[in-house]
Amino acid sequence: MREKADSDLVRRQNRLLLMEALRQHGAMARVDMGRHTGLSPASITTISSQLITDGILEEASATHAPAEGPQRRGRPTTQIDFNPKSANVVAVKVSIDGLELALADGRGAILARRTSRTTTYDADPAVFGKLVADEITALLAKARVPSSRVARVGIAVQGVADSQAGTLVWSPAFRGRNISVSAAIEDRLGIPCRVANDANMIAEGLIGSDRERYGGTAAVIFMGYGVGMGLIINGRVYHGPTGAAAEFGHMNHLPDGPLCRCGRRGCVEAYVADYSLLRWASGQAMTQAPSSNAIPHEDMLALEAAAHRGEEAAVSAYAKAGEALGFGLARLIAILTPSRIVLAGPGTRAMALIRPHLDRALEAGVVDELRRNVEIEVVPIATDMIIKGTIDRALRHVDREIFALGPLAKRVRELEDIS
Ligand SMILES: [Zn+2]
Repeated sequence: MREKADSDLVRRQNRLLLMEALRQHGAMARVDMGRHTGLSPASITTISSQLITDGILEEASATHAPAEGPQRRGRPTTQIDFNPKSANVVAVKVSIDGLELALADGRGAILARRTSRTTTYDADPAVFGKLVADEITALLAKARVPSSRVARVGIAVQGVADSQAGTLVWSPAFRGRNISVSAAIEDRLGIPCRVANDANMIAEGLIGSDRERYGGTAAVIFMGYGVGMGLIINGRVYHGPTGAAAEFGHMNHLPDGPLCRCGRRGCVEAYVADYSLLRWASGQAMTQAPSSNAIPHEDMLALEAAAHRGEEAAVSAYAKAGEALGFGLARLIAILTPSRIVLAGPGTRAMALIRPHLDRALEAGVVDELRRNVEIEVVPIATDMIIKGTIDRALRHVDREIFALGPLAKRVRELEDIS
């Protein structure tokens, strides 16, 4: 029995290795699978044919660009990729403005989308999960996909998510706390569901888009309605035991500083988020409670224009933001020495106003030797990155929790045999 268990474990691990290589690098020939996984050609042949028989992978002929040597010119190689029909997943982005949903196939391609302008802030915590379940039902009806074909639902939310409990512990999009989401979706639709922080999903999306660039140790800072961070350590997003790790925005910048949306004072977010910039520029008291509504895009554009015209209050708001961000990043660099820091989200539009102050704070906050090897880059608006990252993560859960064991249908049969 022990030997059987061991060989089962090896089989699962090898299946997972191969699927991970495909998720990371996309369709590839068997010879490249060997290079990416370190498995022998014989193992690759066995495992890939099992996964193809199971309907998880499929073969597609592709004529490659000529490799070295005239004899290879134009010779077709068999590429292997995920079978789009192997599974479906649903991604849901919850924000202060409403819900965004996407249905994807087993390869991660988006098949259908839906948006709902449901304002979340005053949502009844007792029914919010049911509301999300209804939106998913409507998305599936539109795409004519039965819920039994959906293997996982991933939910990305602003704020602190507890992925174990399936709750939103605290979010700027909600007045209430500890809002249960997963349970209603699992009960109503019978689909396992995971909740995660949206900045973490941006990090997942970046890794998926370019593993060479973002695969080491890197931090993604989201700037906009709030300030979030996705932390990548050795190529993987660090979620912490409950999924609430890396709350960069709620790290203290100055004790007794401006009031943050989380209820504490002096957080980095209380200097850098949209509401903080407006509060500073309009001369409101720093203890003034932040607005619960989403801030109109036009208000931020007007503030930026005022700063570009040289209006003192607006200039000083961006200076304070740059300073808080810079000192926060200096602490991060001193602890982790990431190779890359990515600034993302709508707040980066004003980077020209923020950057000089950020750079000055970084220089003051951390020694050259630690700072020198960190590259800071700015990527534009990140909405779809959150959806793509959520799809990517849901598919990886399917790989690990279902496909590594066998095809979905076979797994159900096995469970029925046991009972
Ligand atoms: Zn805070």
